[in-house]
Amino acid sequence: MTNTAPIDLRSDTVTRPDEQISAAMAAAEVGDDVLDHDPTMRALEERAAQLLGTAAALWVPSGTMGNLIALMIHLRRGDSFLAPRAAHVLNHELGTAAWLAGGMPEPLEWNAGPGRPTADVVRAQSDSNAGYDMLRTKLLCLENTHNGAGGAVLPPHEHAQLVAAARDSGLRVHLDGARIWNASVALGVPPAALTVGVDSVQACLSKGLGAPVGSVVAGSVEFTTEARRVRKMLGGGVRQGGVLAAAGLVALDRVDSLAEDHDKARALAEGLVEHGWSITAPQTNIVLAAVPDVQLTLRRLASVGVLAVPMEGQVRFVTHRDVSKADIEETLRRVGDARI
Ligand SMILES: *Cc1c(COP(=O)(O)O)cnc(C)c1O
Repeated sequence: MTNTAPIDLRSDTVTRPDEQISAAMAAAEVGDDVLDHDPTMRALEERAAQLLGTAAALWVPSGTMGNLIALMIHLRRGDSFLAPRAAHVLNHELGTAAWLAGGMPEPLEWNAGPGRPTADVVRAQSDSNAGYDMLRTKLLCLENTHNGAGGAVLPPHEHAQLVAAARDSGLRVHLDGARIWNASVALGVPPAALTVGVDSVQACLSKGLGAPVGSVVAGSVEFTTEARRVRKMLGGGVRQGGVLAAAGLVALDRVDSLAEDHDKARALAEGLVEHGWSITAPQTNIVLAAVPDVQLTLRRLASVGVLAVPMEGQVRFVTHRDVSKADIEETLRRVGDARI
């Protein structure tokens, strides 16, 4: 009666292309997007722009490249930028914000809640009119949902306050919306309600929605035109990218289904609490668990076929479309049986 097939809760990026995605990819109408435009990429970019409430959007191979392109446009050497502590652009992009985009990173404390700085902190840490020998703060980079804070959501009114503080301080605003779709579903507002006032936004198609590859970076027509040049500079121009964009178009039709991932995360969190775990209540599809020894817990979980990753000194589980409610029950059974 032992079923030990691994249950992969490491990330919502582990999903495999299903039949619908594969069929859309196989049937995609394509062109050479480096020479002129691939029609399916163009369709995806128009749809993404519409959903995100921007004038235009650009397909990019990864969220990391999307963020980097935006930061390269917004920053130059001698600048600094603000981002909430443990943001992806600070901790998970190999320092490219500094060594490629030229901006010195300045983390903001989470004094409004998990992953959320207050507008006062943004004002206090902005110095765009400093002396000639000082860094000039030029950009606020927000993250919604905040991955390192356990998929924490930034609600629209706080977003608006942070954007207003940035504007008052002469800063541009980039939103790392890798999981903006999750934030939108959790808050019950359209994604465009979470991008109000930003200069650029990056959103992933390969997290939770099931596309194997791809993100979009979006903003004004001027921004997107420049982003296309920077994408080429970074080696991110692709030829018949419609094959990949077709998967993204299917993905964008699936945003509502993320609510199921949020239900699964809640069920996982509640079950772990019943087993005595110390859990931060999930707001979206990420569950963080505080444990005495993260590596030991991860090894014990792996030994019973439950895969998770370390995140900000805790254990991170992520629910996604390739784990079912039954898989969550099975996860809890394994954790309970092994007394982890
Ligand atoms: C995953 C992630 C990214 C980067 O996306 P990739 O496609 O993996 O490069 C950026 N920001 C956040 C918040 C993420 O979670």
